[in-house]
This record gives sequence, C-alpha cells and structure tokens, in this order.
Amino acid sequence: MITSPDTDFLSNAGEQTKAVHAGESPDPVTKASAPNLVMSTTFVADADAGFSVEGMEENDSWLYTRWGNPTVHRLEQKLAVLEGAETAVAFASGMGAAVALLIHLLRAGDHAMVSDVAYAALSEITNDKIPDLGIEISKVNTSDLNAVEAAIKANTRLIYIETPCNPLLRLTDIAAVASLAHRAGALLAVDSTFATPAATKPLALGADFVIHSLTKYLGGHGDALGGVILGNREYLVPLRKKTAIRLGGVLSPFNAWLILRGMATFPLRMRVHEENALKIAAWLEQHPKVKQVIYPGLPSHPQHELAKRQMKNFSGIITFQVENGKEQARRFVDKLQIIHYAVSLGHHRSLIFYLNSRDLLKTSFNLSTREQLNSWNVFAGDGIFRLSAGLEDADDLIRDLEQALLS
Ligand SMILES: *Cc1c(COP(=O)(O)O)cnc(C)c1O
Repeated sequence: MITSPDTDFLSNAGEQTKAVHAGESPDPVTKASAPNLVMSTTFVADADAGFSVEGMEENDSWLYTRWGNPTVHRLEQKLAVLEGAETAVAFASGMGAAVALLIHLLRAGDHAMVSDVAYAALSEITNDKIPDLGIEISKVNTSDLNAVEAAIKANTRLIYIETPCNPLLRLTDIAAVASLAHRAGALLAVDSTFATPAATKPLALGADFVIHSLTKYLGGHGDALGGVILGNREYLVPLRKKTAIRLGGVLSPFNAWLILRGMATFPLRMRVHEENALKIAAWLEQHPKVKQVIYPGLPSHPQHELAKRQMKNFSGIITFQVENGKEQARRFVDKLQIIHYAVSLGHHRSLIFYLNSRDLLKTSFNLSTREQLNSWNVFAGDGIFRLSAGLEDADDLIRDLEQALLS
C-alpha cells in the first residue's frame, strides 16, 4: 500500500504533482485517499510525555494542537516542498507569521530594515509597536540597492522586503539584497505573497525566510485566513518552540484543511490568473479613461526586466489609475456585475479596491525623503485601483470593467 510518495520521487516531480501529493498520504486505518481533518485539540499521551514545550522533540507524538496537529503538519509539508524549504511553520494569518518572525529574531538594541511600502498592517506595526520594544526600524525603498546599502548599520539583524510589494507592485531584486544583507551579517526575509512559489523561489535566490499570507493565492478561494514562515530548521525549529507555540496564533486545523485542498490546484490556477491579468492589463492600457497601468508582465512596468528575471509567472494583480478615482470607485460599487469591490486578493473571484494615496501616506507609510515620495508617485499617483484578476473568463472580466468605467 502507498504510504506517502517517496521523497526522491517527489523532489524530481513537476510543480503540479507536488501541489497534489506533497504532505499527503492515504489514511493507514481507513485507507481514505483524501486527507483527514483532525480537529482534536488534545491527543492521548504516553505516561512519560512531558508537560513543557521545552522538552519537545521534532518527531514526538502529537500532544496538544497548539504545539502541533496532523492536518496543519500536512499543510506545512506541502508548503515546504513547493517553496523548496527545509521546513515551515504555519500561523493563523499572514500577519501572525510576520510578527512572530520579527519578535523571534529581534531584541532591544537591534536594527531592522523594512520596505517603506509594504502590506499596510506590517507597515503600521513597524511604525509603532515594534520600535516601542527598543528595536530600531528604518523604512527604506528596497528597490533602490544604493538606499539599502546606505541604510545598513553595524547592528542590522534583519532586512524585511516584499516583492512585488502591496499595493504598488514595485519589485525588489532578492539576490542583490540577499548578498548585501549577508555581507553585513544580517538575515533576509521576503514576503512573497504576491509572487507565490509559481513565480519566485526566494530561498533559492539567497533569502533566509519566506513569508506568505495563505489567505491569498495559496488558499486561493477566499474562505480561510492563514500564514506561514518557511526556511531552515536551524531557525524555524526554535522559532516554533520559543515563539509560535507560546504566542499562540497557530493555524486552525479546519483552515489548514481548506488551504490544503485549495493548494492542490495552485500551479494550475496561477497560470490562469496570469493569463487573465495579462489580457486585462493590455486592454486597460489602451483604454482612453485609464491614465496608467502597472503590471509586472507589461513592458511598460518600470522594472519589467527584473520581473522577467525574477518571476516565472507575473501573478494576477494589476494596479491602474483613472481621473477622479473616488468617483470611479463609487461607480464600480454600483455597476460591477461579477467583480467584487472588496479588499484582499488571490481568490478565484476577481476583486477590486481603490487605494487613495493621501489617506495611505497618512495612516500607513512614513515616506521621509523626496526619492521615496517620487517613487510612490511614479507607481501610484494620487490613488490606484488594485485589481486581483480571478479565474473567470477574461472576456467577461473585460466586459464587466468596460460597462462600469466612467464614460
Ligand atoms: C494580505 C497580506 C498580508 C497579511 O496577511 P493576512 O493573512 O491578512 O494576515 C501580508 N503581506 C501581504 C503582501 C499581503 O497581501
């Protein structure tokens, strides 16, 4: 009977085979082919089982679901195989993963560099709460390698980047920043939520950690929050023990099961997300009401060469600008038939949302230099629509946008 695919067989398999089979095996008792959902919070223990996580070893029996759970473990294995990582630690959300990494690695007196434009909640917590712990944070446009080099200090412990970054779709050269970080004795973490492992494998380019919001493309269906940190055992075994289990923001087994199911079709879905986004971006670019379109797959993207080098798939997120974005947003809310006016991205449903530059520069992003503001303006002007192209037929998405664009 098949227990689980041979590690060698799987490591030589294609991405779609990995997405279907990694982390999965038929149930030895029932022979069920699909993975079981194990919701139990506790597990019947041996008499010599310990009560503190300090004594936990990697191959111990399951004890308590906050420490580890068979369904969550399957998902962690699948993610590690797809990202080419030694191991993975899952969290209740992408933010849970990001903050656990910061808290685990940094202590008072350390310096960390963070992308000046990143997921808003990450930006906001590194503006306030993290500095309150005595950790020094510099906000740097990490697309500018000179700015990265200039911001490195003797106590720089971590560089945290997002590429493409949310919401601008500005890219950072992972290999170049990895070598700057390592030369300075610092570690590099990459939030690869927008790129996904179908596009970019940051660990192979020299990054030490990869973060994903599983809520987006990897889960893919808009029905489960989740997050993950991937990397080497050297860092992630202690991170699980010392931080993840004690912080407690672990992934629910039910969400793990939904995300596991979503991930089976992940490489297939990414092909269609990209195909749809390319068609929509090209259509928007020639539309008279559209001032600018930013999409890594368009030759007009300011970093298209880097995108071609670093992304095997340009993913499904587009930003575009129109005159009078606020009024257009109201019209989209009223008129769109199939595209939902909603935050989030990476779902099978197409989603669109308006992000106003003036608001975001007040609440979320501390851009202090003229270069930083210029870069914001190049990518976002006074505001952008962020469109996450879903899996509907591209012609229908274009038809929907066409009838809802202000005439
Ligand atoms: C959504 C998102 C996050 C946060 O993920 P949650 O699952 O909502 O906590 C982090 N980074 C990026 C790039 C995101 O798009």
